[in-house]
Parts: sequence; C-alpha cells; structure tokens
Amino acid sequence: MIATQDQLGPGRYEPHKVRRIRQIVQFVFLALFIFLLVKALGGRVIGSFIPVLSMSIAALVLTLLLGRVFCGWACPVGTLLDWVRFKRVKERKKQPPKQLRIIKYVLLLVLVAVLSVWLLLSPMDLKEVFHGRNMLVAVSIVIFTIAAIALNMIADLFFCRYLCPLGGVFALVSRISLRFRYVRVQCNKCAVCVGSCRMNAIDPRHQFESDPAECTACIDCLTVCPSSSIGFHFRWQRN
Ligand code: SF4
Ligand code: SF4
Repeated sequence: MIATQDQLGPGRYEPHKVRRIRQIVQFVFLALFIFLLVKALGGRVIGSFIPVLSMSIAALVLTLLLGRVFCGWACPVGTLLDWVRFKRVKERKKQPPKQLRIIKYVLLLVLVAVLSVWLLLSPMDLKEVFHGRNMLVAVSIVIFTIAAIALNMIADLFFCRYLCPLGGVFALVSRISLRFRYVRVQCNKCAVCVGSCRMNAIDPRHQFESDPAECTACIDCLTVCPSSSIGFHFRWQRN
C-alpha cells in the first residue's frame, strides 16, 4: 500500500499530486510548442535566433539545478511519447541493452561537428535556411513524429532514451546537477520501481538508485513505491 501524506511526514510531497502537476505542465508546454510551431510555419517566428538561444540557456540552467527535468516535464516530443504507449511494450520485461544509450551522444557529436563546419564555411542566417521551405519543414516534422512514435513499439521512450541529441546534452549536464533521486534505507527491495521507470534508469544492483543522466524526474517510481522510499533532494540535504 502506498503511504498517505500523514505517513510521509512533514516536508514530503504526495507523489500522485506531483504527477498530476507534471501532466498539466506537460500539456501547457505541448500546447505552447504547437502554437509556436504554427506561427513559425506561418513565417513569423522561424529564424528568431535570440529566443531560441535564451530558451536553450534557461533549459541548461534548469538541468544544472534540477536534473533532466526538461525531458520529463517540458519536452513536447517526450510528452507525446509519454502519452502514446503500446500495451505489448508495457507488458514486455526485456529492455534494449543500456549500451544503446551511447547513440545519443554520438548523434550529438555528429550534429555539433556538422553545425560547426557548416557555420564556419558558410555562415548563414537561419531565416535564409528556412525561407520558402515551410512545407518541407512541416512534412519533416510529421515524418519525425511518426517515426518517433513507431520506435515506442520497441521500448517506451525509445527516442528519448537512445537517440535524442538534445537529451544527450541534458544527460551530460544532469550528471553534475544539484538535485537527484535517492532511495531511503527502508526500501524493501520489491523492485516495483524498476518496472515503472520508462527510462529504464533504475539499477537493482545498486540499491535501486537511478542513473542521474537518464532519470527525467517523472515521479512514476515514487507513485508505485510501497514503502515510500524514493525521494529527490539537493546535494546539501540529507535523507
Ligand atoms: S525503492 Fe520502493 S519500489 Fe523500489 S525496490 Fe525499494 S521499496 Fe520497492
Ligand atoms: S527513476 Fe523514477 S523519476 Fe527517474 S525517470 Fe525513472 S521512474 Fe521517473
């Protein structure tokens, strides 16, 4: 049985309430993204470099403070893949090998290299790149979305776990983030949390702790833990 708020004690939050808040935040960000995308395809936003740069810096600072929360709470792709789940995958116990995670770092490296060379050789305004190509951008987004959803048939959040280069950036930064998930000593080793983690971030061989690079603070494991042993805290806080 999951503990009540009284049993949780002062200062500890109720996971189901936090999960509901997370769903609302995800919805708001997804709606905002769709709104901006529609405006962009109408030619009013694409090429605006400063807002993109500011948002990227804000997301990185947030990751440094709270871990990979952008992926779990705000990313529109993460939200979509979070919501579209396949029953067969849900019931499957076997997960793809963790070594596949390296692909997102390789893709990140390739992306950075290609962008650097391209900007060095032919610095071009983003507006020029996208000018007159709105239909191409729209079709690419649709194809990408279908492909990312199809990959969810292999494993939950397959794209987020193994392929997303942006996730690779956040994974690197979250290794040194100030806030992280921990497991209290009263953990009864039931392993329920392992099956609940769609990022496959929990390691049963290490006291059910999670890989900070992979945990997106989605709260799912907190909602299923029968002994309320899981929490998040800052590095300077104690259990
Ligand atoms: S953290 Fe909670 S759900 Fe995970 S093994 Fe321990 S008691 Fe079970
Ligand atoms: S470890 Fe828990 S909070 Fe982190 S991604 Fe997995 S289920 Fe979500």
